Amino acid sequence: MISLDEALTIIADKIHPLKGTHTCNLKNALGKIVAEDIYAAKSLPPFTNTGVDGYAFYHDEGTKDFQIIGASYAGEPFQGVLEKGQAARIATGAVLPAGADSVAMQEICDVDGNHLHIRELPEQGANIRKAGHDIAKGDIVARKGKTLTIQDIAIFGALGITDVKVTRPVKIAVASSGMELANADTKAHDGMIIDTNTLMVSQMVSSPRTEVTSLPSIADNYDATVIALKNAAKAHDIIITTGGVSVGDRDFIRDVLHDHGDVLFWKIAIRPGKPVLVAKIGDCIVVGLPGNPVSAFVTCHVIVKKIIHALNGQNIHLPDGFPVTLANDITKPDHLRCFIRANYADGQAHTYKDQSSNLYSSLTQSTGLIDLEAGRSSFKKGDRVIYRPYCLFD
Ligand code: AMP
Ligand code: MG
Repeated sequence: MISLDEALTIIADKIHPLKGTHTCNLKNALGKIVAEDIYAAKSLPPFTNTGVDGYAFYHDEGTKDFQIIGASYAGEPFQGVLEKGQAARIATGAVLPAGADSVAMQEICDVDGNHLHIRELPEQGANIRKAGHDIAKGDIVARKGKTLTIQDIAIFGALGITDVKVTRPVKIAVASSGMELANADTKAHDGMIIDTNTLMVSQMVSSPRTEVTSLPSIADNYDATVIALKNAAKAHDIIITTGGVSVGDRDFIRDVLHDHGDVLFWKIAIRPGKPVLVAKIGDCIVVGLPGNPVSAFVTCHVIVKKIIHALNGQNIHLPDGFPVTLANDITKPDHLRCFIRANYADGQAHTYKDQSSNLYSSLTQSTGLIDLEAGRSSFKKGDRVIYRPYCLFD
């Protein structure tokens, strides 16, 4: 059995970024990964302007009185040149008239007809926003590999960029395994349960960086499992299965991946989710998650999402957590790193009362995972521990 850190190192070493890019309109680029460095083809602001409503003038040896000869509004620049002793009305964002070097806010100005008197003369250069002060032409505004945020979209828009080159989405198939599984819309006979893992895992990995297909569940049968996995491997970068990877005699995903795949690892010293298995069939990565929904949920966060990151050329560390105070004692197996479902409130992490891996309620009643290292079995109320909110696993 290997540690989670060792598993992540294997993922980083053995799983390489996908090749292939496509061009995407800016309107659809949010959350995608930019495939080349993006440079500014122009400066921002594109022209020198002002940050206030007031009067533009040339600072000249303390002169406070000026003749107003025109105006510069947003989108309607002043056309002439200001001489010494002249001023122009100016609005926020409007082009600074030629000849002006300062702007006085209107709050410190007295105007009588064409005559302007500035009560407290501001410093030379006051309220000026210089062209290129924000972004200079030629600056890199996004580096290759960046996941595009709404802020990036805004700056690209301001620079007049309409299309960006992005990485191609990771093609993912999700399939559950188990004879006990029924769909919500099929009639379940005794002993059957509804397949929630396909629904949950498919949505956990859905993002602008993925293309997700839900497959029919795979029967607990060796030959059916070989066919299902080999077929799906032809058309996908990742297959995520749930169930059938533990030590039971009907756990065929485990057997088929050992016989027909190259196993990168099987079993990680974590709880929940110990039996997780990662293998390759050809170029396709097959991730066998455990069947219990909580185990599938946690291992999807800490393993599957990291594999997606590796395929996207991103770093595979767990997202940062933050230190919190334990609201109650915890005991755990010494040799396992445990992810404890907990509710974070008022600076304290309150663990869910029952950490069994079959409990849906433990997921809805918790806001994230307390990450407790291997090599220690007892944690006390008041201890400082690392808490990783669900919302930070991207
Ligand atoms: P397995 O690892 O295949 O033995 O699955 C362990 C347990 O997880 C099963 O007994 C089910 O209770 C549950 N389980 C397996 N697959 C699913 C699924 N797709 N949806 C919900 N629960 C599941
Ligand atoms: Mg099963």
